[in-house]
Amino acid sequence: MSTFISVIVPLYNEELVIHELYKKLTAVLHRYKDEYEIILINDGSRDKTLQLAKQLCFQDKKVKLINFSRNFGHQAALTAGMDKTSGRVVVTIDADLQDPPEIIPEMVKQWGEGYQVVHGVRKKRKGEGIFRHAAIFLFYRFLRKTTHIDITVDSGDFRLMDRRVVDELKKMREKNRYIRGMVSWVGFRQTEVEYVREKRFAGKTKYPFRKLVKLAIDGILSFSSFPLKISLAIGYFCSLVSLLIILYAVISNYPYPEPTIPGWIFVFLIVLFLGGIQLITIGILGQYIGRIYEQTNERPIYIMEEHINFE
Ligand code: UDP
Ligand code: MG
Repeated sequence: MSTFISVIVPLYNEELVIHELYKKLTAVLHRYKDEYEIILINDGSRDKTLQLAKQLCFQDKKVKLINFSRNFGHQAALTAGMDKTSGRVVVTIDADLQDPPEIIPEMVKQWGEGYQVVHGVRKKRKGEGIFRHAAIFLFYRFLRKTTHIDITVDSGDFRLMDRRVVDELKKMREKNRYIRGMVSWVGFRQTEVEYVREKRFAGKTKYPFRKLVKLAIDGILSFSSFPLKISLAIGYFCSLVSLLIILYAVISNYPYPEPTIPGWIFVFLIVLFLGGIQLITIGILGQYIGRIYEQTNERPIYIMEEHINFE
């Protein structure tokens, strides 16, 4: 049986939501008869997620499972799913039902009208703190301003992609993966479907602020050389300012035997100032070099321990 639609769901400690997710997804996917598959990726969960997922696979052959050898992260899990799908269209969705599966048919409709990527765009977010909310809001605007590509603002990882797009993404084996940026990068015809982001169905977020920051940095460094330009600009600015101060000191000191600014403070300030600038610049360079290092080592993006219900 050929697969029309593949739905990829990463799972990390999602024992509380997996059943409800399965129920809701199946209810929606029912309309595609036998031509759908649900691909669960267990991303090194430490709770009962794996057992429950295996049970589902056992009951229903449409549910397939990829089990990672440890936690490789959300973006790696999505990648594994895409590597293994066979669908004409591929949907990625979070496990916690924050992205309503009921939107999927609407996405498929847009695809039918000739779009190869349909982003789910959050109109509203429920149940997230004001600080997190503001940080996310600013981040997307910043990213859009600093990158050359047109990254869809406020779109998480709820989207539909055509087979063509997935095939292109599969060729991109970069290690620091920021999939929403990569999807925008590949091009094709892209559109958006708006939805209200619900509260998590159960459990806690698996994206603590630390992981969110890591994802944001991946996004910025993977798609822009803006940070390198800032340090260059600060460098120019500082050199110019110090030059002016030096000129001022030389000129203002000229007629007097006594200096107007004590010499040691002057030197101290300039050394401190330039030292700081140099450290910042080196730090930014270091970020990119770290990435080059990660890219050049031959480690895979994820390790699969087992997979179930794939032919
Ligand atoms: N997730 C994952 N690996 C991780 C962290 C998260 O596979 O290391 C999954 C998680 O199970 C969920 C999705 O990624 O299906 C999004 O996570 P979450 O809902 O916790 O993020 P939030 O919606 O709070 O940003
Ligand atoms: Mg969530």
